[in-house]
Amino acid sequence: MGKPTGFKEFCRATTFDFDEFHSKPEEVHLRTQGARCMDCGIPFCMSSTGCPVDNLIPEWNDLVYRGRWREALERLHKTNNFPEFTGRVCPAPCEGACCLGVIDPPVTIKNIECAIVERGFEEGWIMPQPPKHRTGKSVAVIGSGPAGLAAAAQLNKAGHKVTVYERDDRIGGLLMYGIPNMKLDKQIVTRRVDLLRAEGIELVTGAHVGKNVDIQDLRAGADAIVLACGATVPRDLSIPGRKLRGIHFAMEFLAQNTRSLLDSELGDGRYISARGKRVIVVGGGDTGTDCIGTSIRHGCSSMVNFELFPKPPARRAAENPWPEWPRVFRVDYGHEEAAARFGEDPRVYQVMSKEFLGDRRGNVAGIRTVDVAVDYSGGRPEFREIDGSEQDWEADLVLLAMGFLGPEAALAEQLGLETDPRSNFKAAFGKFATNIDGVFAAGDCRRGQSLVVWAIREGRGAARECDRYLMGATSLP
Ligand SMILES: Cc1cc2nc3c(=O)[nH]c(=O)nc-3n(C[C@H](O)[C@H](O)[C@H](O)COP(=O)(O)OP(=O)(O)OC[C@H]3O[C@@H](n4cnc5c(N)ncnc54)[C@H](O)[C@@H]3O)c2cc1C
Ligand code: SF4
Repeated sequence: MGKPTGFKEFCRATTFDFDEFHSKPEEVHLRTQGARCMDCGIPFCMSSTGCPVDNLIPEWNDLVYRGRWREALERLHKTNNFPEFTGRVCPAPCEGACCLGVIDPPVTIKNIECAIVERGFEEGWIMPQPPKHRTGKSVAVIGSGPAGLAAAAQLNKAGHKVTVYERDDRIGGLLMYGIPNMKLDKQIVTRRVDLLRAEGIELVTGAHVGKNVDIQDLRAGADAIVLACGATVPRDLSIPGRKLRGIHFAMEFLAQNTRSLLDSELGDGRYISARGKRVIVVGGGDTGTDCIGTSIRHGCSSMVNFELFPKPPARRAAENPWPEWPRVFRVDYGHEEAAARFGEDPRVYQVMSKEFLGDRRGNVAGIRTVDVAVDYSGGRPEFREIDGSEQDWEADLVLLAMGFLGPEAALAEQLGLETDPRSNFKAAFGKFATNIDGVFAAGDCRRGQSLVVWAIREGRGAARECDRYLMGATSLP
């Protein structure tokens, strides 16, 4: 027990700063969790609905239980180049598929993953491992998100000379400028980036391929190319009033915030501030949550989050059985913080924005919405507006977090690249080869907006196929 009279003396206090909120679990807790693993005959945590990088979960659960951390780290790095990222930000499909989840809460797989790799860094077990031999082949990787970095790490391991071209001023893609610092401290990203550099990978920032770096020059200078440019075109909300001041895409808001935070602890003022503003976030998911969490740290005066779809059920629905990813109501950190600050969960369900409302000076002043009913009978969701349900909501800042439409078109046009019907770079999963000889595609630019763990999986796969293309055979996993 803490201080016996503490409950009378101290109020509940929650801090809202940009420091990472993950706490370090006790070793005894981790070993107990490892011990809970049943080492299932068919480990569903590693099934097609489980871990996308095929992490050897039961093996390292057992090694952690036995206190054999270094071996656990070796097993972990066999399948995942960056467990410190997935151990923090992955939604953990492995836990959704864990057999224990049928009757009990699943093993805390993600916590164990994070603890193994952090132990590795603390103990000094994770050191640069440059390849012993070089092949003389060179590869240009475009984009430095998790897909590009995973591809680069694997290709470098195979002995190729790898150069990563990144248009931004820092390496990391959405690990750096999408996911906010409190969820993934940027020192964690640079710690891994420094290792990759020390292993011999060249990382070039400010290199916007297709603008200040010619893609044809890259093709002529490298033996192969891996495109890992992400899905960076945001879905817009083209309703009346869209041009009013104070309406921003989520990524403008989040990226400027992190850049200013890293450059000057927000001292340079070069970010969109939510301080004292009534904020509406349109759209949910990770991006919406991150907008909520960031606005709260700025000191917004109110927070509302519009969701088009109905509130998910508290428990799995009959058509969403284990081991599928449970589509249930979740409270992420942004929702929890908004409830702590303003007394209620900020989410409003089944509302469709119809019009942005403005003041006389051209600033946004609110949003007019209508409630919708959702009909799934035709397979795809159909939204029907409910008569008389119009409502006006006040806002000084509106953040659009409605997902992404795919990669930007410029590189595809310049290369003559085929795209799929959703405008992603066309390359079959598993092969990752585009229609252009020696050009591969991986991550969000190929599969559409997804997850860090899938980007790592795709980067590794594209590296394997690129190595096969260069050498005629490959030993990369
Ligand atoms: C706000 C936000 C929060 C998220 N939170 C999570 C989360 O908590 N957990 C999770 O698993 N996933 C999360 N995601 C999704 C995840 O970040 C992405 O799926 C993942 O980063 C995709 O990796 P990628 O390498 O394919 O692309 P990206 O990470 O998008 O990286 C692409 C890089 O390519 C660069 N680039 C693009 N074009 C060029 C060019 N022509 N020349 C040079 N460089 C170029 C871009 O600047 C960028 O740095 C989040 C996404 C967003 C937007
Ligand atoms: S499904 Fe769960 S209990 Fe079974 S091996 Fe995987 S982590 Fe262990």
